[in-house]
Amino acid sequence: MESSAADDLDRAAECILRSRHVIALTGAGLSVESGIPPFRGPGGIWTRYGEPPMDGYQRFLADPVKAWEERLDPSGPMRELWETLSAARPNAGHRALVELEELGILRCTITQNVDDLHRAAGSRAVLEIHGNATLIRCIQCVERFPRKAIDFATLPPRCPLCDGILKSDTVAFGEPIPPDVLGRCFEEAELADCMLVAGTSATVYPAAQFPITIQERGGDLVEVNPYETELTALCQHTLRGTAGEVLPRIVERVRALR
Ligand SMILES: [Zn+2]
Repeated sequence: MESSAADDLDRAAECILRSRHVIALTGAGLSVESGIPPFRGPGGIWTRYGEPPMDGYQRFLADPVKAWEERLDPSGPMRELWETLSAARPNAGHRALVELEELGILRCTITQNVDDLHRAAGSRAVLEIHGNATLIRCIQCVERFPRKAIDFATLPPRCPLCDGILKSDTVAFGEPIPPDVLGRCFEEAELADCMLVAGTSATVYPAAQFPITIQERGGDLVEVNPYETELTALCQHTLRGTAGEVLPRIVERVRALR
């Protein structure tokens, strides 16, 4: 980071400390530091294997048995994705957000990542807009279950509560964001007067909407990203660097200044 970085860190920490309701928005950039390449871009799974079908959810609904057979015995890109996800561990950026939550400052983390790393690190208030790859969700009653709690002897697996069809909690292409999570994200964005945007350019709806909503209401945005993004112009504080480098330093300054 540049020489002005210490001042920038202090100003961002002060902003966080004077806010009433701080939330975070995270994305693929945070996972990269845990060894999960972004889907798109150099080295990305979709760049190398091609984009998955845009109607994945419709395909699941049309033939859930086939979709589950492929999921339980993955090949090609899906196998590689599973192996990458199961080997990944939280990094310093995830742990910094846990600390901020434990200090009573960070109210919740909205993430676009499906890798479970925020929960694995110890974050409690996590809203996973694109779902969680370690969970199974009922498409009827929206209840979620850990994978090991589900019987896969007969496909498709059925919900223990309502007998609805179960699918991965990961939101497929063409699938609506689960309304319970989306509703809570909008509630948090309404309450927030400060958002820490880490490792995401937040260009994809609905994630893109949250920082804009907060900024329009006069709230502050603190961006942590190695690169300039479409959000940068809206951000009061921009800290250049990866989430794993910068977030722990913000927490350090928050602790020092509080
Ligand atoms: Zn159900």
